[in-house]
Amino acid sequence: MKTTFPLGQFQKIETPFYYYDTERLDKTLATVAKLGRENGFRIHYALKANANEPILRRISAYGYGADCVSGYEVRRALETGFNPSDIVFAGVGKADWEIELGLDQGISCFNSESIQELGVINELAARKGVKAPVALRINPHVDAHTHHYITTGIEENKFGINPWDWDKVIKFLETAPNLEWKGLHFHIGSQITNFDVFKGLCTRINEIQAWFACNNLTPRIINVGGGLGIDYSNPDSDGPDFRTYFDIFKKHLDLQFGQEVHFEPGRALVAQSGSLISKVLYVKEGVKTRFAILDAGMTELIRPALYQAFHVIENLTSNAPATLYDVVGPICESSDCFGKAVNLPETRRGDLIAIRSAGAYGETMSSNYNLREKVKTWYSDEIPSDESSTYTPSGKQAG
Ligand SMILES: *Cc1c(COP(=O)(O)O)cnc(C)c1O
Repeated sequence: MKTTFPLGQFQKIETPFYYYDTERLDKTLATVAKLGRENGFRIHYALKANANEPILRRISAYGYGADCVSGYEVRRALETGFNPSDIVFAGVGKADWEIELGLDQGISCFNSESIQELGVINELAARKGVKAPVALRINPHVDAHTHHYITTGIEENKFGINPWDWDKVIKFLETAPNLEWKGLHFHIGSQITNFDVFKGLCTRINEIQAWFACNNLTPRIINVGGGLGIDYSNPDSDGPDFRTYFDIFKKHLDLQFGQEVHFEPGRALVAQSGSLISKVLYVKEGVKTRFAILDAGMTELIRPALYQAFHVIENLTSNAPATLYDVVGPICESSDCFGKAVNLPETRRGDLIAIRSAGAYGETMSSNYNLREKVKTWYSDEIPSDESSTYTPSGKQAG
């Protein structure tokens, strides 16, 4: 699935901005929704990857549920077409107002991560005279083998309820009349590209289920979380292999009659449809390479600075012979660098640069550090295409 950029139109738009290929997004959403239905899986999209309203409206229209990690996200989900009964609410620290919001709106499940929080949910539900649907987020101690900042399922992480607390949780549930136990929730990390990790998760879930069954608790819902990674080095590839991914869970999870399997992909659904488009402000000679200084920085896309993340960087407006550039932003931090020694065609002031596969954890993590303004957004279906000057990537990229 190739994204093409309407360069003639881009020249008229103020940079930097995010550009979303809505056709591509639609294709991904349709394909994955169909695969989910065929397998009988329920998919909740993780809003934190991208929470732009037009994108969320599309996602809800395809029948996905919403996985929220704040009261603000719950509100946004409700505003963009998700039914309360399709909203789940996770997060290691939910404030009282966020829990009350979820209860008032009648969301489908609170994924809770501590006995103390379960106590607060029980109390707030009692005050309202309702029963709160809860699932237990379990820390399964499965290493996602991804960047340590986005690993969430190992012993040292703050996420999930650890095995030494399971006995206590079960006892607590028995004494909490305003909680309705729905099932188990797992989410072991993000940008996972090794499918064996998911196999390992299934094995672990089977063991954990068996443990709960021994204690007379059979979960109705097994929520396996998100985390499916994308290939950042191939922005125009067809996207993550959801078929193989779903097959792994189909084959390796031991399910009881009537159990539902829920998924929470974020990145895998939206990442490849977005690019950050920026203009070159200056080119400066460095020691080993030149610096291409852009008008976008870590304030618009923090992933490289935060996780040493790799994004393909393309010069959309130069065909000159290639040379090496450190592609950096204007922010007063040395980590404000999108890529070191990137092989780009000779780059001049005014060239348009695309930072690819930026549709997930790009805009949602943007900030106004240095008092920068919120980055602008364009969708391909609201920009007239201009075939004559459309950039088509050459397909090869070093860096
Ligand atoms: C972030 C998150 C997700 C989505 O993760 P991706 O890697 O974007 O698929 C799913 N579930 C929970 C609980 C999360 O916190």
